[in-house]
Amino acid sequence: MSDLINNYRSFDENVQSDKLKLLYHQSFPAVFFSLIAAFIYVGILWPKMDNNLLFIWLGIVALSSFLRLFLFFTYRHRDPQGDEVLKWERPYFITLMMSSSIWGVGALLLSYNLSFLYQTITYFILMGMAGSALTVYSAIRYFSVSTVAIILLPTILWFLYLGNNTSIMMSALGIIFMVSAYRATLVLSDSLHFSYMLTHALGRAKEEAERLASIDMLTGINNRRAFTKLAKNQVEYCKRHEHPVSAIIIDADHFKNINDTHGHASGDAALQHLSQILQNLTRASDVIGRIGGEEFAVLLTSTNVNDAMLVAEKLKSWIADNPVHIDDEYFSITVSIGVASDDKYDLELLLNNADKAMYKAKREGRNQVVCF
Ligand code: GH3
Ligand code: MG
Ligand code: MG
Repeated sequence: MSDLINNYRSFDENVQSDKLKLLYHQSFPAVFFSLIAAFIYVGILWPKMDNNLLFIWLGIVALSSFLRLFLFFTYRHRDPQGDEVLKWERPYFITLMMSSSIWGVGALLLSYNLSFLYQTITYFILMGMAGSALTVYSAIRYFSVSTVAIILLPTILWFLYLGNNTSIMMSALGIIFMVSAYRATLVLSDSLHFSYMLTHALGRAKEEAERLASIDMLTGINNRRAFTKLAKNQVEYCKRHEHPVSAIIIDADHFKNINDTHGHASGDAALQHLSQILQNLTRASDVIGRIGGEEFAVLLTSTNVNDAMLVAEKLKSWIADNPVHIDDEYFSITVSIGVASDDKYDLELLLNNADKAMYKAKREGRNQVVCF
């Protein structure tokens, strides 16, 4: 499985935008919780200090919460997709750093000249804030690491500066908290990263498996299964728009002899040559496929039987006039073609009728086109 992951390093940008999407969608509650915590904190400090200062700080918290909500709503409204999502990383980070420093620096400025008890209360509230930030922002490692650092470092440094035994131990406690927060964020972000990588790797593997299941390995065109599926869609399209639809079945003449005379590898090259001609002479809206060993089909959308006959004649002549060239050897190949059209929009019937016409072309001497 790790090979699979290594093969898909190109997912990095997709994974990063998945994480951002996750953050944009899960961060609404965090803004409200931070606002409620700010109210409670102000309530605790209320009897102890200048209420105007507390009002100002609360106003700043409310303003930054409003800014963040505005950013989240704008994101939802714009609903960016693919690489566009990555442009939203910086605004998220900037507003996150803003609200983290309002807590980290702001709470220290409010409490630094209160009693040690209130400084301690502030410190533990900040630890709580840092802990919950860790759980919310871990999807992107540098988000959670910077948030925790901005919330806690100012107070840790302040306690170190105070220099008494208790305050130094308090700052040691904060450093231990930050180290364990860092470890937790490593584990969380790695496992989230791995799980997103896996989702993308599996999605890509599924697409590749589906692609391989629908193409013919020798010629690279649709195999029978894919041809039937695509042709059905086109028949439905013609039915809806009341357009005519026709089918052509092409079978290589005496192909067994080609294998016997020139070898199986040359036979393979002849089949590739045939499919190349089919691709070159049909329209993009037509469906072509290899439906048997040396048998091909073309479904011609919005084409009546006369035009289908013209296409078939062109194919027949082109194939007869352009020999297969392999190494220094040239050999000619011809095909018998059956053409059918009907207004019942029934793919199976259409192919059966074209098949019958193709067998008639065989009976009548090969290298010719017969209409059902
Ligand atoms: P007819 O004109 O009646 O169609 O004669 P034919 O020899 O083409 O028809 P037949 O059905 O008797 O033989 C088909 C041959 O096509 C036999 C088979 O070995 C060959 N064939 C089928 N698939 C492949 C392939 O993938 N590669 C090669 N080289 N030959 C193939
Ligand atoms: Mg044949
Ligand atoms: Mg055949």
